[in-house]
Amino acid sequence: MSELSDLTLPTFSEIWQSTLNWCPTEPQQVRFQDLLTQLCALNTHVNLTRITSQEAFWEKHLWDSLWGIQPWLQAEPTELRCIDIGTGGGFPGIPVAIALPRSHVTLLDSTRKKITCLESLCQTLPLPNAAPVCDRAEALARRKGDRAAYDLAFIRAVGSVFSCAEYTLPFLKVGGTAVIYRGQWSVEEEQILEQVLPQLGAKLSDLRSTTTPLTQAQRHCLYLQKVEVTTVNFPKKVGLPTQDSLGITSNK
Ligand code: SAM
Repeated sequence: MSELSDLTLPTFSEIWQSTLNWCPTEPQQVRFQDLLTQLCALNTHVNLTRITSQEAFWEKHLWDSLWGIQPWLQAEPTELRCIDIGTGGGFPGIPVAIALPRSHVTLLDSTRKKITCLESLCQTLPLPNAAPVCDRAEALARRKGDRAAYDLAFIRAVGSVFSCAEYTLPFLKVGGTAVIYRGQWSVEEEQILEQVLPQLGAKLSDLRSTTTPLTQAQRHCLYLQKVEVTTVNFPKKVGLPTQDSLGITSNK
């Protein structure tokens, strides 16, 4: 994408409105444009995220990130504390921080060079309500001040749904919500997830599906509500959260 000469981000106001019943304000659109421009510049040094066109960036990174948090978009409650686990190039966390300016978003990733880029990005945008943190989810979730401290935890494209549940839930306060972004989703995965959630102190509160507005790709979003304190057994030590740690035998 950095080799493309025109980096003008489309507005697609009608699509925002018709699909999410929300539309970025003018300052938010400027932030999204700056995000695209700066990510393309950073991508020439570090492979932060794949961006093939302005439209693909809009759909896969902006629209997709915000579709998952649609329930919070229209009426942002006061000061949500959020964490994006395995944020990579900042998705979904950065679009969420732009769309929910009163909330605070921790951008967590275990890759140092990605976090260094995000630190520079958050300074230059600027994005004062986002804080990049370099650590593994398994380690940060055991730290006082981060464990059971968040209202919302998002995770996109980081391993199996079971690992996603195990990574997100320990960060949440009781009553908080984990938002797990998936492409495909199967009945078998849902059945197994329902079996393991009680171990993690959570229940499946919603499952939404849609197709993306430009390329009609399949999307699913799972919403897990934390109903009890997660036991100290979770998450497993670094490298271990897997289906096995939750006693799952399926290969999905
Ligand atoms: N969420 C972004 C997105 O959807 O564009 C990036 C997804 S990328 C495929 C997965 C990212 O998760 C990588 O940047 C990787 O470093 C990070 N990651 C994987 N396991 C992690 C862990 N246990 N703790 C923190 N970050 C992790």
